[in-house]
Amino acid sequence: MIPFVRAMQFEYGRAQSVSPLIRRVVADNPGPFTFTGTGAHIIGHGQVAVIDPGPDQESHLEAILAATRGETISHIFVTHGHLDHSPLARPLAATTGAVIYAGGEPCRPSDGAARLEAGDDLVFRPDVALSDGRAFRGPGWTIQAVATPGHTSNHYAFALAEEHALFPGDCVMGWSTSVVSPPDGDMGDYLESLMKIRARRYDTLWPAHGPPIRDVEPFLAAYVAHRRKRAGDILAALEAQGATSIRRLVAELYADVDRRLHPAAAHSVLAHLIHLRRAGAVECAGPPTLAAVWRLRRLRRAA
Ligand SMILES: [Zn+2]
Repeated sequence: MIPFVRAMQFEYGRAQSVSPLIRRVVADNPGPFTFTGTGAHIIGHGQVAVIDPGPDQESHLEAILAATRGETISHIFVTHGHLDHSPLARPLAATTGAVIYAGGEPCRPSDGAARLEAGDDLVFRPDVALSDGRAFRGPGWTIQAVATPGHTSNHYAFALAEEHALFPGDCVMGWSTSVVSPPDGDMGDYLESLMKIRARRYDTLWPAHGPPIRDVEPFLAAYVAHRRKRAGDILAALEAQGATSIRRLVAELYADVDRRLHPAAAHSVLAHLIHLRRAGAVECAGPPTLAAVWRLRRLRRAA
């Protein structure tokens, strides 16, 4: 079981000091993929950075500006191009003169009718494309970009050295598992990103949605174990069902889950199957899509 953390004290539109270097303003965009809303994090004092400005809401822009009155916003960091994270970056930069940093490649649009996320921000472009490990300095703060693809191909997390803390965006969330939806989402990349974060032994994670994760190692261990168990369950179901569809796999594996969540579950199963196919464990006829027929890969007998 993942030790989810969901209790959170906050007020919309009001910046809250949550650590010596971190202030958080929660946007008023609660929903099934955003929990209580997107947390914009302000780093430092005097000359500050903003991580994930959030959705394009006038009230949220005003709240960030009010929180930083008399200060200078020099850097805007964006974890990924989803509509609940990136759209306010451009208006905030236009107002403050800050420079926008994010992964350079726009994410590929999600396919299918199932709306699994707050939605892709297909027009978002940073001023400066990040590279893994690049560091930025302000008075009293050092932020390092950490490439963490998987939730999206362009996802970056940001480490705050002075507090040995990480802002993992949507890669790790305390309240929920993360959506990994092909074609842009990639389960192999995602698991590698989780292992990379885990290896760095951060003291605290500040996800873009929900409260901080302070018991980092047990949380990440359970988060990774959850994905590995799901992959094992899929292989077992393929063994039992033979050549089968994602629809039938979902019906078996998610029998106890609300049927309205089954379309999202199908995307997650597809992400696992693509990963397992790359590893040589499963195969499908034709392209690896939601509609394909999937089976365990049988080793061919030598002629
Ligand atoms: Zn997202």
